[in-house]
Amino acid sequence: MNQITVTLPDGSTRSFESGITPYDVALDIGERLAQDVVCAKIDGVISDLSISLRKDVSLALFDGRSPEGHDVLLHSTAHLMAQAVMSLYPDVQITIGPTIENGFFYDFDFPQEFSEEDLEKIEAKMKELAKSAYNVSRKELSAKEASDYFNKMGQKYKVEIVDSIDPKETISLYSQGDFTDLCRGPHVPNTSKIKYFKLLSTSGAYWRGDEKNKMLQRIYGTVFAKKKDLKKHLHLLEEAKKRDHRKLGKELELFTFDEEVGPGLPLWLPNGTVLVDALEDLAKEVERKAGYERVRTPHLSKGLLYEKSGHLAHYRDSMYPAMDVDGNEYFVKPMNCPHHHKIYDAVPKSYRDLPVRYAEYGTCYRYEKSGQLFGLMRVRSMQMNDAHIYCTSEQFKREFLAVCKMYLDYFEIFGIEKYQMRLSLHDPKALGEKYVDDAKLWLETEQAVREALDEGGLNYVEIPGEAAFYGPKIDVQVWSAIGKEFTLATNQVDFAIPERFGLTYTDEEGNEQTPLCIHRAPLSTHERFIGFLIEHYGGNFPLWLAPVQLMIIPISDKYLEYAEEVCLALKSEGFRAKTNKRSDKVGAKIRQAELSKINVMLIVGEKELQDRTVSVRRRFEGDKGMQTLETVISELTEEVKDRRPSHSQES
Ligand SMILES: [Zn+2]
Ligand SMILES: [Zn+2]
Repeated sequence: MNQITVTLPDGSTRSFESGITPYDVALDIGERLAQDVVCAKIDGVISDLSISLRKDVSLALFDGRSPEGHDVLLHSTAHLMAQAVMSLYPDVQITIGPTIENGFFYDFDFPQEFSEEDLEKIEAKMKELAKSAYNVSRKELSAKEASDYFNKMGQKYKVEIVDSIDPKETISLYSQGDFTDLCRGPHVPNTSKIKYFKLLSTSGAYWRGDEKNKMLQRIYGTVFAKKKDLKKHLHLLEEAKKRDHRKLGKELELFTFDEEVGPGLPLWLPNGTVLVDALEDLAKEVERKAGYERVRTPHLSKGLLYEKSGHLAHYRDSMYPAMDVDGNEYFVKPMNCPHHHKIYDAVPKSYRDLPVRYAEYGTCYRYEKSGQLFGLMRVRSMQMNDAHIYCTSEQFKREFLAVCKMYLDYFEIFGIEKYQMRLSLHDPKALGEKYVDDAKLWLETEQAVREALDEGGLNYVEIPGEAAFYGPKIDVQVWSAIGKEFTLATNQVDFAIPERFGLTYTDEEGNEQTPLCIHRAPLSTHERFIGFLIEHYGGNFPLWLAPVQLMIIPISDKYLEYAEEVCLALKSEGFRAKTNKRSDKVGAKIRQAELSKINVMLIVGEKELQDRTVSVRRRFEGDKGMQTLETVISELTEEVKDRRPSHSQES
């Protein structure tokens, strides 16, 4: 009998008879591991546990809590759900069921809409099927055989998928009980491995994501290897629902959408406008200190400008259609860059003028398909924390590092603890087609970006082959206080555009040179960033951002006049204060202010009136006792000036 050597991730080796499976290896290592393991990685390829090993291999084994194992568990649960749906509704047409972050879905073609009750029924059926402990087996067929099989089963979507695959390819099917699905795998070895799952919601989805195709029904679900992980995740989903920016945006009167204005065009209500203004003040202050100059540009431009910038060639589908003005094509602007390039070009530059940094909260309009619109996160009009930095290649690293540091400063102000930057690099093999054809410039710039990120102490991963055509880019992902992920902004280096716009500066020898350009927008757009902040803070904004900072609460109507006096004094110091003039009981007024998430309550009655003081009550902190108005004003002024985080956040 042949012997094979299995090398494990820790470098240790074990010898087995040829034909052994990864599951056997797990058993050999320990009973416990064999119980938990759900998939294997054989020579770098994720595989089933039942594959026969017939040569020396490197082998890693994964349980359902590892990212690899969790993905297999999620996808296996999608199969289990399809099995349950088919057994309950035999006429259903099954389509595809991929995994998503911490979840899975499966799309079904079924005439009648799946209700809450149906979901419960399906989930119960899944439990039953999982307990039946079906082995999950893989079978390989030719494309023709697979097509015939699904034809016989009457599963036309599966036939369509198989028929779109190269007929020379081998096709794999996975079966459990009487259910068979087309799948690359791998899968858990037995349905009994699937224990802690939950179906979450349904939605409509077009077949292959194309509006011209039939609308299918999508069911979302999730699964975890441990009960406590499922519980934690479901709690997080609950919390996320409570913090949904669309829900809080309405409750706190921050923004609205109106059918007659148009979808994807947010209207900022007074409370939301406070957030917008506070962010702009912050950006202006930070950018002024960092040596930026502010510029302003119109919302409309001739098509010629976007021809030059390449937007019309590459970006037209995301732009609003042209309008005819005096026989010229005009567009509303999808980006601010070309305008800033024109501003750079308006006055001749020498090396002494560089770096030049132009900043603008620029308004842009982008055509997003109506099905893609989502609250403030995907909109059609947006104001961007935009800036363009023009510099020499010697200045590049320092400028880039300064931008990185600015990100970190902002993260600190907003209490963003978890973030990651994805540095997208070029692919040397695609120079000239996918990427500007200048190998040296790419390597130098990428190295400078890398060094800047390292020196700045930023957390990043490198992704080869995903750079923009004209330079490396950085995508910034942040996680909210409850761990929800958002992609905030993109930071890009641009080799191509300055040349295309004929931007130059005169160097020390009097020669014309082309500057590099950095596009950056750390605070993203108002829409996206405020959407993020609403969910991050759960609507409990720190004092400097809060739409209403103080509520003055008179104990009874008798003290209304004094309350108004206090309110006026605060307003004249620049605070956003209101007086509760209703004749409710004081307890009710306090509850009202708490519900409106107001940071500071000042309660006034006889004692306060006599002593010319106020009783301070802070959200999350409770009573702070009686203080003079001067003390309150000077303390709160400091708090706002320093943009301090909320004293304690509800979590
Ligand atoms: Zn599958
Ligand atoms: Zn730009």
